Amino acid sequence: MIAPPPSPNRLRLSSEALVSNWRWLVRQSGSAACGAAVKADGYGLGAVEVVARLAAAGCRDFFVATWGEAWALGALPEGCSLSVLHGIRPEDMELAAQLPYRPVLNTIRQVALWRSIGRPCDVMVDTGINRLGLSVADVTGGALDGLQIDTLMSHLASADEETDQNMIQLAAFQSLRGRTTAKRMSLANSAGICLGADFAFDLTRPGLALYGGIPRAEAKGAIQQVAFPEAQIIQRRALNPDDKVGYNATFTADRSMDVAILNLGYADGYLRCFSGKGSASGGQLPVIGRVSMDLIAVDISSAPELEEGEWIGVDYDLPQTSSLSGLSQYELLTGLGARYDRIWA
Ligand SMILES: *Cc1c(COP(=O)(O)O)cnc(C)c1O
Repeated sequence: MIAPPPSPNRLRLSSEALVSNWRWLVRQSGSAACGAAVKADGYGLGAVEVVARLAAAGCRDFFVATWGEAWALGALPEGCSLSVLHGIRPEDMELAAQLPYRPVLNTIRQVALWRSIGRPCDVMVDTGINRLGLSVADVTGGALDGLQIDTLMSHLASADEETDQNMIQLAAFQSLRGRTTAKRMSLANSAGICLGADFAFDLTRPGLALYGGIPRAEAKGAIQQVAFPEAQIIQRRALNPDDKVGYNATFTADRSMDVAILNLGYADGYLRCFSGKGSASGGQLPVIGRVSMDLIAVDISSAPELEEGEWIGVDYDLPQTSSLSGLSQYELLTGLGARYDRIWA
């Protein structure tokens, strides 16, 4: 069988930026080890490639959401461990018994299910997010007695904000020191790492900031963009004054213009909120009219040299693109979709 041609859109991915971001998070984590959340296929960038690069840099602790994601990672690099954040269901047991990974147990039923396997696990304690985890009272009441725990975790609800909730969750988690068999404790995600040494405990769990997201002002200037979407020009066309562009004719030319139609659209995560707002080539080429499923139009009147087949970088600085679009930095990454060729440099 003949191989498919390269895709007309691609994500350029920087290994150097990824590793540099992780190293910054390592330094901010102080004496705590710094792991990496690689759920949702490494926040859309490609979990296998992310794990390989971070493991080579010295990262040892990885986190996915489900056993399906654990399976999809294949064999991990030597010396690495993997935790499955959503715990364990009866339908996961057959795979979980065979893979050397740890579930992060969240409920009393999950604890009971895992006891039959008899291997170490991690445990999530809910200290106020009311999402996943056992309660503090469950833990102090003995629900984990006799369980071999590697890492006791909790998760911050509002680490990206200045709010009392951070200190309240910190105090609740600190109160569990020495109350279980856990070898390590872990609380901080990317934003939590920025809150300072008290939040680091023994292991930190950044995701967003690894991939170029800025969780809090402390990370500005330190965290670098990792993912750069690019799309090919499928057609270059000339517009006359009064010509309309795209679905529902939301753009009308007020002069003669040149437009490039790029192979990128909402099915690639470039959502309709970028209509008339997005830009390419570092702000030089505005997106005009509506974003289609597979196509956008950009004004290239200022770039007479751009021809069909050429590649254009679509602006995707995460904090900036987030405030422009109203999408979170997380959504901007995880929405990127399957149609890009992901090209690591
Ligand atoms: C996703 C996740 C993380 C990583 O969070 P970021 O905000 O992306 O740094 C850490 N811990 C848990 C439990 C998570 O679900």
